[in-house]
Amino acid sequence: MTIALFADRAENWQRYRAPLERAFAERGLEVDLVNDTDAPETVDYIIYSPMGPVQDFAPFTNLKAVLSLWAGVERIEGNETIKVPLCRMVDEGLTGGMVEWVSGHVLRHHLGMDVHICHQDGVWRNGIVPPLARDRKVGFLGLGALGAVCARVLAGLGFDVAGWSRSAKDMEFPTFSGAAGLREILGRSEILVLLLPDTAATRNVLNNETLAVLPKGAVVINPGRGTLIDDDALLAALDSGHLGHATLDVFRQEPLPPEHPFWAHPKVTVTPHIASETRPESAARTIADNIARGEAGQPFVHVVDRKAGY
Ligand code: NAP
Repeated sequence: MTIALFADRAENWQRYRAPLERAFAERGLEVDLVNDTDAPETVDYIIYSPMGPVQDFAPFTNLKAVLSLWAGVERIEGNETIKVPLCRMVDEGLTGGMVEWVSGHVLRHHLGMDVHICHQDGVWRNGIVPPLARDRKVGFLGLGALGAVCARVLAGLGFDVAGWSRSAKDMEFPTFSGAAGLREILGRSEILVLLLPDTAATRNVLNNETLAVLPKGAVVINPGRGTLIDDDALLAALDSGHLGHATLDVFRQEPLPPEHPFWAHPKVTVTPHIASETRPESAARTIADNIARGEAGQPFVHVVDRKAGY
């Protein structure tokens, strides 16, 4: 019997237990799913969240893989007690949620919705008609499981999309990589979406120097990680009028402290890390597929490159 330990917050055990058991049964997997154990040496798989109880993996001497419920793995990828493959979450529910959140916030800024939503004051403001999507340049930093799908959906709506990633890519819109590529994509992005992981190479990717490359009035949308942006540089760029707005879902410190200047800033929208979350039904299928692969002696998928940090 294969043993899988569910290591997340207690309240999530109730949300995930039935979907996981269903997904195991659908694949003919005989998995004993537990949320606690006195015998760590018997555990084959750990279904992991940083909010859960397991941080030291050394007692799990027969472990085959650690399966993260989170897409972002910055809090675990450096854990030296993990000696087995660490797999991140790629979940069509999580992706779908991110597509909706990113599309909504891009459309808000593209259409200038705030002008009408924030001013219901009897003034007939018909002087500015929004351009068509094809005349709006949207840049994506990060073309992975989330960024690539969001970029494709916005390209499908007609936006003039481009993307930047670590490795060069051949996609149906312009793509860039490297430091020179970063400057190119920043220079053309009226709306910039950050869907990069938090790694040593991506921290402060938006700083005084790179923010200055964005066109005047550009909007920054960050559902990636708070560390991608130098907060002081962002505030300075907003205050100087160089940037038009920043919509931020993730922060260096979460919850964002009430006294943080982002809360009261007229050009900042704060959302509380709700852009998207892992959905139990679809995430359970991802976990079960990987356990099925492990049990069949096949390589795991969505394995974290521990050198690259994501
Ligand atoms: P992913 O599949 O690992 O994709 C990451 C992308 O970033 C890839 O395109 C990768 O390039 C690129 N990248 C990494 N390091 C880079 C570098 N140094 N320079 C340029 N590009 C670099 O990750 P994902 O599933 O799309 O998720 C992205 C992030 O979203 C997660 O790490 C997490 O932090 C965040 N997230 C947030 C929420 C939320 O609710 N706010 C929810 C889920 C996830 P390659 O393609 O060349 O590898």
